[in-house]
Amino acid sequence: MTMRRAAAAAAAESTAAAAAATLVPPWLEPLLATQFFSACPDHADAARSECNMFCLDCRPSPPAFCFYCRSDIHPGHRVIQIRRSSYHDVVRVAEVEKALDIGGVQTYVINSARVLFLNERPQPRGGGAAAAGKAASSTHYCEICARALLDPFRFCSLGCKLVRIKRNGDASFTPTEASASGSGSGGGDGDDNKAEGGKVTGGSGERIPQREETRVGADTARATRSLPNSRRRKGVPHRAPFFAS
Ligand SMILES: [Zn+2]
Ligand SMILES: [Zn+2]
Ligand SMILES: [Zn+2]
Repeated sequence: MTMRRAAAAAAAESTAAAAAATLVPPWLEPLLATQFFSACPDHADAARSECNMFCLDCRPSPPAFCFYCRSDIHPGHRVIQIRRSSYHDVVRVAEVEKALDIGGVQTYVINSARVLFLNERPQPRGGGAAAAGKAASSTHYCEICARALLDPFRFCSLGCKLVRIKRNGDASFTPTEASASGSGSGGGDGDDNKAEGGKVTGGSGERIPQREETRVGADTARATRSLPNSRRRKGVPHRAPFFAS
């Protein structure tokens, strides 16, 4: 389409188009189509040169970029970091929930952080005893790809939720009334939902044992204690990136 820009300008005036656009932020489809984890051509020799970041503010959405490009090109922008779990792209709930209503999307706890998958994952068809057992014991399935879910969610990933919105418009990515409505649109009826009092819908996910979290905390505390107070360690990682395999 050569009329992209004209169409974009017209969209600003068209309330109908605007209404449709409110269901899906403009950066979401580019995000889901982006290839992550290639090496940054500009910072190939640096330690953190893999392109695992994505900007929510630049238009049109730029390709994935690296840690160094972030400060060079996207200062002050909303940037999210993509991580990997078993070779699939995930994003932390904490990084996207302000910009996106993730209601209805299955979340998982991986390396003590709650994450969700960007896209539908290939499913073993008829094979894999583990997968079969998991599916057999599940009563919840993604509305789009039929993947077995752990909890009463509607979608396995942001990608499947997007498909549903484009087909039916009966879900939304707009984070407005996430807390007010308590996500009336199906799913997320878990008891611990209210206990947590958060806006994260559902929220059990693949919970790792409580002990695990405690131990991680203790390790961190010990590490901190062993450092001289006066000299803060430089470049303490926000969190080690995980590459669960
Ligand atoms: Zn770079
Ligand atoms: Zn940017
Ligand atoms: Zn799905």
